[in-house]
Amino acid sequence: MKILVPVKRVVDANVKVRPRADETGVDLANLKMAMNPFDEIAVEEAVRLKEKGVATEIVVVSCGSPASQETLRTALSVGADRAILVDCGDTELQPLAVAKLLKAVCAAEQPQLVIAGKQAIDDDANQVGQMLAALQGWSQATFASRVEIAGNSAKVTREVDGGLEILEVPLPAVVTADLRLNEPRYAKLPDVMKAKKKPLDTRTPADLGVDITPRLKTLKVSEPPRRQGGGKVADVADLVNKLKNEAKVI
Ligand code: AMP
Repeated sequence: MKILVPVKRVVDANVKVRPRADETGVDLANLKMAMNPFDEIAVEEAVRLKEKGVATEIVVVSCGSPASQETLRTALSVGADRAILVDCGDTELQPLAVAKLLKAVCAAEQPQLVIAGKQAIDDDANQVGQMLAALQGWSQATFASRVEIAGNSAKVTREVDGGLEILEVPLPAVVTADLRLNEPRYAKLPDVMKAKKKPLDTRTPADLGVDITPRLKTLKVSEPPRRQGGGKVADVADLVNKLKNEAKVI
């Protein structure tokens, strides 16, 4: 079974981002970048399926600027077999465009399973996996916390409000990884070196016949209002007075 894992290069989760002064987006200059954390979990799951003998090949795909090669090499160093960069230059990529590019890659690669992250932590869209499944006419099981493959179907435990839901989906399917699916491993130094020699092919949106022109316009990106400092109250009567007359909540 071939598994395709889409991985996105995003600002490192530990970096505090700030909007640009003109509020047109987030200031990305000189920030540390890393693989989207949910995609690390997706890669790990694919590698575990290969270690169990369920998967035979893991192909990782990233759509973005050539800098995304670094993210692909990270995935190769923890066990992916091959990588594809869809070089989109500096064009802003929106979820529908990514889903269309992945659809074209699926047409060429014919994976039985796509394991994506549940969302990319930069734009928090939570759309690509669902859009890809819809474009392909495939089943989808999102927010997975457990994946078991049995024959031609996948049994996926999903984290939903108030509990767990277990779905059985026929393959091919799109599964998206939630936080508790697994704990990704770190790459060992020899594997980082070996990853440099693994195949990394480059395609362009034109090669794949996909128009990636943005369809949505970001009007404004701004910081949330600063929290007002708290104050101390002298006694219960003072608190009740403030709640009644200042906050006007009682
Ligand atoms: P999103 O819908 O943008 O929150 O992203 C959900 C998932 O889709 C991510 O966790 C990735 O697995 C995949 N994805 C999103 N954008 C890209 C991209 N530019 N390249 C490759 N995979 C992506």
